[in-house]
Amino acid sequence: MLLQRLRNIGASQVLTAPADTAPYLTDWRGRFTGRAQAVVLPATTGEVAAIVSACAEHRAPIVPQGGNTGLVGGATPDASGDAIVLSLKRLNRVREVDAINGTITVEAGCVLYDVQQAAHGAGRLFPLSLAAEGSATIGGNLSTNAGGTQVLRYGNARELALGLEVVLPSGEIWCGLRGLRKDNTGYDLRDLFIGAEGTLGVITAACLKTFPLPRAQVTALFALDAVAPALGLLALAQSAAGPTLTAFEFFSATCLQLVTRHFLDQRSPFERAHAQYVLLQLSDHEDEQHAAGLLQALAEQALDKRLIADAVIAQSAAQSHALWKLRELISEAQSREGKNIKHDISVPISSIARFIDETDALLSQLFPGVRMVTFGHLGDGNLHYNVSAPLDVAEERFFAHQPAIYECVHDQVTRFSGSISAEHGIGQLKRDENARYKSVVEMNLMRAIKRTLDPLNIMNPGKVV
Ligand SMILES: Cc1cc2nc3c(=O)[nH]c(=O)nc-3n(C[C@H](O)[C@H](O)[C@H](O)COP(=O)(O)OP(=O)(O)OC[C@H]3O[C@@H](n4cnc5c(N)ncnc54)[C@H](O)[C@@H]3O)c2cc1C
Repeated sequence: MLLQRLRNIGASQVLTAPADTAPYLTDWRGRFTGRAQAVVLPATTGEVAAIVSACAEHRAPIVPQGGNTGLVGGATPDASGDAIVLSLKRLNRVREVDAINGTITVEAGCVLYDVQQAAHGAGRLFPLSLAAEGSATIGGNLSTNAGGTQVLRYGNARELALGLEVVLPSGEIWCGLRGLRKDNTGYDLRDLFIGAEGTLGVITAACLKTFPLPRAQVTALFALDAVAPALGLLALAQSAAGPTLTAFEFFSATCLQLVTRHFLDQRSPFERAHAQYVLLQLSDHEDEQHAAGLLQALAEQALDKRLIADAVIAQSAAQSHALWKLRELISEAQSREGKNIKHDISVPISSIARFIDETDALLSQLFPGVRMVTFGHLGDGNLHYNVSAPLDVAEERFFAHQPAIYECVHDQVTRFSGSISAEHGIGQLKRDENARYKSVVEMNLMRAIKRTLDPLNIMNPGKVV
């Protein structure tokens, strides 16, 4: 029987007791819960291959899982209890740091923060950065093509990966761990597995790009009277600071209010409230003085051009950390406030102001009193466009309108040639919604790829396609 066979594979751990498996069966938000035959934790790529082969023989569905911080239910099994959850947590070795090639080769279960630290220890920067970096793993980051706060300068997870090692649904190992910037030898197999959310194979290791460490980082929080000037500010910052501009994060007044309401040690650094805020970071390769000069000049130009109403420039690492905290606490503050209807969308940067203004107006017309909690990575055109119930409407009543709100927002996204999932992926949350918005040709191509690589449909079935 399958479980006995899995127990005999090398040093793999096989968990079946409900108390042991429970943390693997519910997602981070507590929105999805499933069941599984067992949770299996292999320690080597060979063990992963043996587990996948055994599951293929028994036609048992496999749900790969990293840090379980995903936000679309991709790492949670369904309710049938047939699945094997394959946790990559124990596959967590740094295999090689090559400072001259500018690469770090790590196993899939390495926690993102540990990879950043390993690169830093070798005098290099691994720039992928997101609020869940203390738990999220590289395998999960690549499988969701994670974004975060540095995409503007360094790209998302896909752009940071040079090579992969993958266990295919057949149990074969594809070793594509090449650290090459140039390799035109046919179809790009690597890119198939990135963003596939575990539906095409199990990523077991990756060769990732690293960059020179910046010598200085400076941060400022800008206050704006509307969304549109943020686009002018972005263009100004890009032309004034060039590649030193590493973060351009945006949040509305409502977001800041939520953070200060739910975290009593947090306060706005401005004397009065403003409509919108931009948190901007420069990473400089000269020195502190040069970075501070650049930021000061940028703030002055932005004031002169009336793009911003006010600015606070951090004078120390502690002040910079405090400004970042206001941005990082938004997700937590909105969950303390109550549930809301979330959208992780992108539109062309030039359309962002029009998208927000028009969609806010549409929603207010349909559901008078709705509260918009809008924030995100404006420099990437990516908004977390979240909708909270009017103050006088009970959450359950409001949630009955969720399908209509999704439709309103996603129709708008489509009208602006955007994407209904910018960085969190599709998982089970948006699977049907994705099929509604992607063209028939795109969906057929995706399904054909899935059938070719995974003819038995054992790799994370029910997710993405
Ligand atoms: C507070 C918070 C903030 C966040 N901020 C961001 C953000 O700024 N940007 C962003 O992009 N995301 C963000 N996320 C979402 C999440 O952290 C990312 O999606 C992350 O990349 C998931 O990594 P993980 O290891 O937790 O993957 P999991 O949640 O375990 O899995 C995610 C998906 O990948 C698959 N998978 C996992 N490991 C493998 C593997 N080795 N091989 C094949 N498939 C695999 C799973 O089956 C699942 O479909 C945030 C989440 C939280 C909780």
